[in-house]
Parts: sequence; C-alpha cells; structure tokens
Amino acid sequence: MKTYGLIGYPLSHSFSKGFFTRKFEEEHIAGCQYETFPIPAITELPALLAQHPGLCGLNVTIPYKEQVIPYLDELSDAAANIGAVNCIRLKDGKKKGFNTDVIGFRNSLQPLLQPHHNRALVLGTGGAAKAVMYALQEMNISFTVASRTPGNGTVAYNSLDKAAMEAHTLIINTTPLGMYPNVDACPDIPYDFITSRHLLYDLVYNPAETLFLQKGAAQGAAIKNGHEMLILQAEASWDIWNG
Ligand code: NAP
Repeated sequence: MKTYGLIGYPLSHSFSKGFFTRKFEEEHIAGCQYETFPIPAITELPALLAQHPGLCGLNVTIPYKEQVIPYLDELSDAAANIGAVNCIRLKDGKKKGFNTDVIGFRNSLQPLLQPHHNRALVLGTGGAAKAVMYALQEMNISFTVASRTPGNGTVAYNSLDKAAMEAHTLIINTTPLGMYPNVDACPDIPYDFITSRHLLYDLVYNPAETLFLQKGAAQGAAIKNGHEMLILQAEASWDIWNG
C-alpha cells in the first residue's frame, strides 16, 4: 500500500484528504491511501516517517510550511526561492520539498490573461504572496506589493490612487480578508477606480465570491477565486509524487 498524507496542526478539516480519497475512487487508483497526520511539533516528523515506511509523499500545511525545510535533503528552485514547502516527495531515501502553490496559481491565472494585464498589484506579504510573486516573475509580469506595514519595497494601501489603480490591471488578493466566516471584510483599495479592463484574482475560495470579487464584478472587472488553484496545486503534488 502506498501512503500519502498531510502534516500540519491542528488538522480539523482537510481539503487534501477529501480530494485524494475521491481521486483514488473516481480514477480507480488501487493500492493508495491518503491520511492526515496532525503532529503537534515538527520535531515529530522523523518518528512519523520511521513509523510509516510506506509513505511516498506528504503535503504540508500551517504551521509547518517553513519549519519543515531543515528536515529535507533537497528543495526545488521555487521552494528554495519562496522559503516555503507544501509538498514533499519521499523517494530512494531522500526527502525533496516543492511548492505547488506556484503551479496552481500560475496555471489557473494564465488562461485569463489579456495582453493589457501586464502589471499586477499583490495585496499582502505572507507565504501565499511569495508564491504568487514567484509565479508572476516566471510569467514576466511586473508587480507592486501592498502591505499594512509598508517599506522594504512594498506600498501602503492609502497610497493607491486613481493612477496606481489604472496602471495595475491585475489585482491579486493574498490576504485572508473576506474568508468565511468574516465575509464582510475586504482589502482596503479604492474599488471606484476598477474598470472592465481589470482582472481581480482572490486566493480565498470560501465563499466562492468574496466581497473583494463582488466589488470588482460590480465595476465590470473579470473575477477569479482560489478554487481552481487549490485543485491544481493538489494535482501538481500527485504529478510530483508519481512523475
Ligand atoms: P497569512 O500569512 O496569514 O497572511 C497573508 C498576508 O495578508 C499577511 O502577511 C498580511 O500582509 C496580510 N494580512 C493578514 N491579515 C490582514 C488583515 N486583517 N488586513 C489586511 N491584510 C492582512 O496567510 P497566507 O498563508 O499567506 O494565506 C493567505 C490566504 O490565501 C489565506 O486565505 C489562504 O487560505 C489563501 N490560500 C489559498 C490557496 C489556494 O490554493 N487557493 C493557497 C494558499 C493560500 P501585511 O502584514 O504585509 O499586510
């Protein structure tokens, strides 16, 4: 039996377990199982691996995406650059870390891009923002980053005027604002300057249409939520484990 799984803590609800259990059933993939491993400290990872010699791959979630790095033998270029791992391949006694959020984001954004979407505004500076920035670099899209604590190359939300909003026709929310149950929250940007030339992308996928996306759609912008990114990052993990 090949075992795959998710490490993190706590792990109350897991998208990945549901996704892979359904995938194994629907695609008649025999001899595979996906388990959740809620470990209260990353120091428990070596013991977990020793207890489960059949483990072929792991996903990594909060709070271990960065803490797991010292336990790995190798990193992909993206994971090394971003400094965060959400997928581990266990093969030939070696543990290699990858970041599939980059792949999920890039491949879900690419089909929606118009030639004028050549400058992006990234809202937030966390782990998800770093994956987004790496993907934008790969796609040769220049970007500006907004933060509540500007400096170090980021700008303040209250500096986003009409000219800035017109120049950045791709706006990406990487903050948790608007995520269930706080559905009445949204990033503090001047939505009045959004037009039908804009594409608003929200990494949040619950609710399907956040207030950020609703306000963009009301101005005629194209919108995209984080659901496809979530699916594509999971599929990318599968490809890495079995590629
Ligand atoms: P995070 O590190 O907790 O937060 C991201 C950034 O958002 C923070 O660094 C902060 O930047 C900003 N922020 C946080 N709270 C804020 C607030 N109240 N007001 C304004 N800005 C705030 O989270 P993350 O791990 O990067 O994830 C961010 C979101 O992306 C989550 O909702 C997560 O579920 C989602 N996500 C989705 C996918 C997917 O596949 N769709 C993948 C990864 C993550 P500043 O301090 O610089 O303002």
